[in-house]
Amino acid sequence: MALAKYNGAHPKIRAALLASAIGQPCHFCGKPMLPGQRLDLDHTVDGSAYRGMAHMTCNRRDGGKRGRAAQLRSQRAAHADPGPSRTW
Ligand SMILES: [Zn+2]
Repeated sequence: MALAKYNGAHPKIRAALLASAIGQPCHFCGKPMLPGQRLDLDHTVDGSAYRGMAHMTCNRRDGGKRGRAAQLRSQRAAHADPGPSRTW
């Protein structure tokens, strides 16, 4: 089964939830989502489920943080100390 993020349902679910999200708290910052604000339908990191509507800025900030953390982990792994270059 395709992950929720990739199965094509995402825009339809987002559109269906958009109207009812207005006035509700963003699940990241807790502030109300207001008419005219750009909103995202947030999904779990693995894309298998939805976490709810959120401000676009909050959602993308969260995604950016996770992306940067993964990038730093990858860089640390690539530059890990290989140990002494030779045994004396
Ligand atoms: Zn927010």
